[in-house]
Amino acid sequence: METPRYRRIVLKLSGEALAGEQGYGIAHAMLDTIAKQVTEVRRLGVEVALVVGGGNIWRGIAGSAQGMDRATADYMGMLATVMNALALQDALEKHGSDTRVLSAIEMRQVAEPYIRRRAIRHMEKGRIVIFAAGTGNPYFSTDTTAALRAAEIEAEVILMAKRVDGVYDSDPLKNPKAQKFESLSYLDVLSKGLGVMDSTATSLCMDNSLPLIVFDLNQEGNILRAVMGEMIGTYVGRESQ
Ligand code: UDP
Repeated sequence: METPRYRRIVLKLSGEALAGEQGYGIAHAMLDTIAKQVTEVRRLGVEVALVVGGGNIWRGIAGSAQGMDRATADYMGMLATVMNALALQDALEKHGSDTRVLSAIEMRQVAEPYIRRRAIRHMEKGRIVIFAAGTGNPYFSTDTTAALRAAEIEAEVILMAKRVDGVYDSDPLKNPKAQKFESLSYLDVLSKGLGVMDSTATSLCMDNSLPLIVFDLNQEGNILRAVMGEMIGTYVGRESQ
């Protein structure tokens, strides 16, 4: 068996990734395939941290568009990520993985508070860590959370799970002639306005030289392929390669 390319990873799962085909809420079949793949990677000795979004339940920006106070709507979004984190924890435990949910908003009855050193310790002990409640601050996203936590725990890469197999110059679901990029620099992502992640998250990755791999979660085995260093999806780093 080959050795994995990465020793410590952050896997960013959007809320939509958990919704599967139904497009909202939590699809149990999706949870199950994600949990199976993540457990497989963990068994290779890779330290895994998950950052989960909440867009399948609530997005702050949608609430504020309807006249709600933006910060309140964003806190609701962060609470939505906690529900997803608990669902993922349950699915991972069913596959025999040891897990801890660490929440950026304290709620001791359901999750540990986020403490950086504790997160690292859990991973060293072989536990899968799930970061819930985003950064704990309104006006941010869970993409920014992934960049922030990856920098804090010194992860080597962020795996960005999407529903398309990489970054395209236009939406491949709408434009059949859309061209896929094999690799991009952070500056390309920012200057071309590509929808990889928001600009705050991209800048944080750039400032900390954190590479990203944007890949299709719906293709079974892709998390493992990315961890083994197979070229899948689109690589985003300091230089486009
Ligand atoms: N959110 C926030 N601060 C954070 C992370 C998330 O306010 O640090 C809120 C924000 O309202 C966002 C929602 O939580 O819309 C869900 O997160 P996100 O949109 O990033 O989820 P995803 O698109 O990954 O499903």
